[in-house]
Amino acid sequence: MSVSEIERDRYARAATITLGEKRIDSPHFLTRISNPDELRSLEQLVMEGSPRVQGCVVRLFDAKNVLGSSIADMTQTRVDALSKYVGSRFREFLDKVTVVIDPATEYLFYEHHLSKWVNDRALPRLVTDYARARINKKERVDSYEYDNWKIANHTLFWNKLSHDAASRNRLIGEVFDLELSYRSSLLLPPVPVIRTSRDLEIAIQFNEIAQAISAGRNTECAGYFIMQKGVLDDDGIIDTLFRYLSNSSQRMVVLKFKYLDLVKAGSVRQLIAYRNILQQISFLKETFRDRAYMVLENGYQVFPSATVAFDLVSTHMTGFDKDSEFGHGEYGSWFDPELMVHMPFKDMKEIYENNQNRLPCAHDECADVDVNTIDANSWNTSRRKHYVLTMGDYMTMIANAIKTKRTDLAIDKLINSDISRLKKLIPRS
Ligand SMILES: [Zn+2]
Repeated sequence: MSVSEIERDRYARAATITLGEKRIDSPHFLTRISNPDELRSLEQLVMEGSPRVQGCVVRLFDAKNVLGSSIADMTQTRVDALSKYVGSRFREFLDKVTVVIDPATEYLFYEHHLSKWVNDRALPRLVTDYARARINKKERVDSYEYDNWKIANHTLFWNKLSHDAASRNRLIGEVFDLELSYRSSLLLPPVPVIRTSRDLEIAIQFNEIAQAISAGRNTECAGYFIMQKGVLDDDGIIDTLFRYLSNSSQRMVVLKFKYLDLVKAGSVRQLIAYRNILQQISFLKETFRDRAYMVLENGYQVFPSATVAFDLVSTHMTGFDKDSEFGHGEYGSWFDPELMVHMPFKDMKEIYENNQNRLPCAHDECADVDVNTIDANSWNTSRRKHYVLTMGDYMTMIANAIKTKRTDLAIDKLINSDISRLKKLIPRS
């Protein structure tokens, strides 16, 4: 991996990051995709050449469903012309795109997706056994007892691994090999979600060992820290983390702040804490110019995060990183590029009509959408592509502002939006 700085404007920078054979211009948006339809949509956007949409993030427990069959098809020797064509197109896409497989091991704590761990035989046995025990327990006891047991059991799981070198090393190695089988350009180690200082100790231990285990796999291994948003304003934990990051050797650091939503009322303390984190990363980036920083599942924070601190930012293709069960066949909300928030579909007719029967964005992809006649599936595909294109536009906007030394423009962009309180995340000169 290498990082070469192209432009700098005080705290902000634009750089070219090389990961193996892939090159990526920062700031860059890598969308998370979670099903084969989203993969197809991303494939179209990448092949059409959207300049700052050349990567994606896939959670390990989604990878088989999202990428598995396409990769299998590609590597098989096929005879018929159609399969050959589909295979070679996918290969071309993979050559262009930077894939990051996220082990997403915080879901060994959270309740969502537990069944996905169990249903994929390729996943490490240690993890599938753990998930199966959780599901069995849940069926047998009431929710109060289950919740207490779950927390104790999760703590025990990581503590045991922390002391058992053979199991730990095997787990890290197995996760790395899976990530590589899905063509990840970066290795992310399995780590516990950080809720206490003990979790952070274990996460640091796993990160250190992962560096050693990754040697010989010929792919950059990132430092990876997943934080429950509650620890954001825990000075002890954040200080320890940054002390580690300023002494450690990882050239790429990936952070995830679980379910963080600074737009929500009542998050002022977290807003200040997150501002400090952005500044500390910005400082690290100035000190170690050959390093890069990435943030996953960053929701509405993506724009200020990319302006101040993170080279690579990511959210799910809908822009929502919460876990929720939306019904199928429903019209999802549309991300407004000016207001920088999602608009419910029921408001779209009026917005569309007030804009001469066009969606208020400049994308060719969106030009033919008629909100009066479109069916729910086509709408949901279209609004996802629109969201990703909009994030790509934001990244281009930030890069241009850095180039002209006018990063302050990012503050104006936020002031004129519905998430104006996030302007506090960007330092004033
Ligand atoms: Zn659009």
